Amino acid sequence: MKPPLPARRNFLIQAALTAAALPLAFRLIPEARAAGLTKLPLDNPQAKALGYTEDAGTSKHASYKPGSMCSNCQFFTAATGACALFAGFSVSPKGWCSAWAKKPA
Ligand code: SF4
Repeated sequence: MKPPLPARRNFLIQAALTAAALPLAFRLIPEARAAGLTKLPLDNPQAKALGYTEDAGTSKHASYKPGSMCSNCQFFTAATGACALFAGFSVSPKGWCSAWAKKPA
């Protein structure tokens, strides 16, 4: 029978395994990446001014073009749900606002 590992060695092994597993956990749970962001409230003054909606298909804005949405906007970061126009907030990939600009191919 083997003697138990010294506490320090055991701790280092567990820390290494945890460090190796974290990137996988973040990949499996996309929301975790956006943990530092708050969902953009619909009553945010800038969101209201830009006609932001969480569902692009429901937009009645004059400049809305079918097919345009946050997920294909150049200001959207898919990995976090962040929008460059709304610092500290995440937006819906299916959302839209009048600042929409086509993401370069
Ligand atoms: Fe969505 Fe683009 Fe408007 Fe940001 S700027 S809310 S990503 S449409």
